[in-house]
Amino acid sequence: MTEQLHAQQQEPQQEPQQEIEQPEDFTIQPETDALLVVDMQPDFMPGGPLAVAEGDQIVSPIAALMQRFSLVVATQDWHPAQHISFASQQGRSPFDAIPLYGSTQTLWPDHCIAGTSGAALHPGIPQDRIGILVRKGTYRDIDSYSAFRENTGPDGQRRTTGLSAMLSARGVRRVFVCGLARDFCVGWSALDAQAEGLLAIVLDDLTRAVYPDRRAQTDALFAQGNVLHRPSSLLKGGAL
Ligand SMILES: [Zn+2]
Repeated sequence: MTEQLHAQQQEPQQEPQQEIEQPEDFTIQPETDALLVVDMQPDFMPGGPLAVAEGDQIVSPIAALMQRFSLVVATQDWHPAQHISFASQQGRSPFDAIPLYGSTQTLWPDHCIAGTSGAALHPGIPQDRIGILVRKGTYRDIDSYSAFRENTGPDGQRRTTGLSAMLSARGVRRVFVCGLARDFCVGWSALDAQAEGLLAIVLDDLTRAVYPDRRAQTDALFAQGNVLHRPSSLLKGGAL
């Protein structure tokens, strides 16, 4: 996990009240649950410029799960060709990190340029199931990992994408998060969802990481942000 994710953490919360332990119920609630499918795009799949190992292996199970939720939100990384996160624009090597707007920006190979085939949704993802589509990283000078907020901008703020308000307006209270990559866009989205007052559960088997060997760091951040991560096999019900 990178410095950026640390930097965006909320202040430590107060000690939780003593609560009676409730068994977790992952029965899909059509009115109040949403499935968030993050960045299932060819550029992040094996063979793409920013390939996440095994990213292609989660396409089919995510496609199947999309049939069970009445509201599916999908995100697409969608950058202008001169995007600030591209190492090629900075004269640096991919995966270098640079200071930017008081935070740290990882530099990436050119990826997900708006309108290209690599930025399209993977053909195995059923577009007819998507109720809300969020394209992010569309401004040249700001990256955006999260579905909910852009990375830190020139003014030191993280601008909203508007997704939180849309979900609130529809009565959504819980989001299950899957897609790519666990340690970046999935992780940021889940932490932001929780910070926005939603319950966020990362579906562990339906995501893959850029840096799988740093899993403990990601999990520690999830624990700190009260984000659960569970296997999708715990989900019950939904339209099958
Ligand atoms: Zn990107």
